[in-house]
Amino acid sequence: MDCQQVRDWLHTYVDARVDAAQEREIERHIRACSFCRKRLVELGRAVNLLDDQRLIGPGPDFLRRVLQSVLRTDPAGAQD
Ligand SMILES: [Zn+2]
Repeated sequence: MDCQQVRDWLHTYVDARVDAAQEREIERHIRACSFCRKRLVELGRAVNLLDDQRLIGPGPDFLRRVLQSVLRTDPAGAQD
C-alpha cells in the first residue's frame, strides 16, 4: 500500500469499517510512514475522536494507541 492508497482508506479506517486485512495493511504503513501517521492524527482530531485528553468513539485499537501516544507527547493538543 502506498501513501495515496492509505489516504483513500483513512476515513474508513477511522470509522472502524475496514476488514481485518485492510486494517493490517494500513497499520503496517502507518508504523513505517510518519507522514501518514500525522494525517491519521489530524483525521482523528477532525472527526472528534479526540476530546482533549480523552479518546472518544469507536475506532481500531491501533488508532487509539497512536492517538494516545501523540497525546502523551503533545499534551497541549497544538494544531501547528
Ligand atoms: Zn505514507
